[in-house]
Amino acid sequence: MKVLVLNSGSSSIKYQLFRSADWTAIAYGLVARIGESESELRLNWLDGAGEPQSSRSSLPIPTHRHGIDQIVASLRESGALADVAELAAIGHRVVHGGEHFKHPTIVDDSVTTAIRDTIPLAPLHNPDNLVGIEVTRTLFPGVPSVAVFDTAFHQTMPPAAYRYALPESLYSEHRIRRYGFHGTSHYYVAKRAAAFLDKPLQDCNLITLHLGNGASAAAIHAGRCVDTSMGLTPLEGLVMGTRCGDIDPAALIYLSRNLGLDAEALDRLLNRQSGLLGICGVNDMREINRLAQEGHADAELAIGITAHRLKKYIGAYYAELGRVDAVVFTGGIGENAADIRRRACAGLERLGIVLDKAANEASEARGERCISPPEGEVQVLVIPTNEELEIAQQALAAVTA
Ligand code: ADP
Repeated sequence: MKVLVLNSGSSSIKYQLFRSADWTAIAYGLVARIGESESELRLNWLDGAGEPQSSRSSLPIPTHRHGIDQIVASLRESGALADVAELAAIGHRVVHGGEHFKHPTIVDDSVTTAIRDTIPLAPLHNPDNLVGIEVTRTLFPGVPSVAVFDTAFHQTMPPAAYRYALPESLYSEHRIRRYGFHGTSHYYVAKRAAAFLDKPLQDCNLITLHLGNGASAAAIHAGRCVDTSMGLTPLEGLVMGTRCGDIDPAALIYLSRNLGLDAEALDRLLNRQSGLLGICGVNDMREINRLAQEGHADAELAIGITAHRLKKYIGAYYAELGRVDAVVFTGGIGENAADIRRRACAGLERLGIVLDKAANEASEARGERCISPPEGEVQVLVIPTNEELEIAQQALAAVTA
């Protein structure tokens, strides 16, 4: 059987097709610029001999429905998917499941209603995720759609971690609390880390650091999430590509009173113009590294603030967990930026967190690896994330349960 994973955004749909027998990704790609005059369809697939092939075409794709139609048609043409009947499930990434969704869920009408109900909490993402779900339910009624939520893994947080110190009614009437995101990735790397440590996940205490364009940390106690750095929205916590992360909320009051910024302007400022981009004008860590090496003070500061914030979260989560088996780095920055890992872990020897310099800096190293001395008290691991695979596996597990 095969499982198709869809990540439906405002003007693009990313997809990946897995063969469940060995979880090989036999095809992946995206449709981009949906609704524009020239849309793009990209497909990468393994042919009958297992050789990688790719194609790219420009064509009008006016709607998500056309986009999903095109994806399936191109999968058929390439031979990656002979018939839709081969699909055991379609897994959909859904950003926000509120408090309602604690597990991957097979979609029926009541589920789409409940996802719609969370739109006020994730107005930028959930509507697009929902469109993807509704289109596949209409186009392929015989294939179960499974919603996999970015928030679900964090639903085990205790109230002391998820509640803000705000009046109770804001929680009970308006659902203002910390939810956390990137849960699929934190869960995936936690499972892989446990396998790497050769221990059951329920015996592992972990600090997982997902550092991509968005970035978040999670504290995992006995395999369950007990705290995470993102909050009501993905804005809270670590420094990100264009998001500021933690900030004194009074800064917003100041900006509103003194610069006249309204809600839209604040949203734009904090979500799209801040973070690495705001500090040094660039949000790509590779470019920032290059600029810092050339002596650009702003780039050096961007790296400094990022690493300082990371170290604070490692320390805080260490204190929450009491004992830590491993610190796990993942995401484009976590997997590749040795300098950020070095700075985030520097000076934490007393906590048992020590890097092996050569292992951390081995530029050719890829895949799951330990970058601390083997006898270290806390293992420091690099584990490449694979959210699509996790969604595919959770989707199949949901339909076969
Ligand atoms: P997304 O959140 O969009 O999935 P990724 O996980 O792909 O993002 O991470 C993107 C970030 O990873 C970018 O800041 C990019 O510069 C950074 N990155 C990728 N490769 C490297 C590298 N070799 N060294 C430093 N940073 C890298």
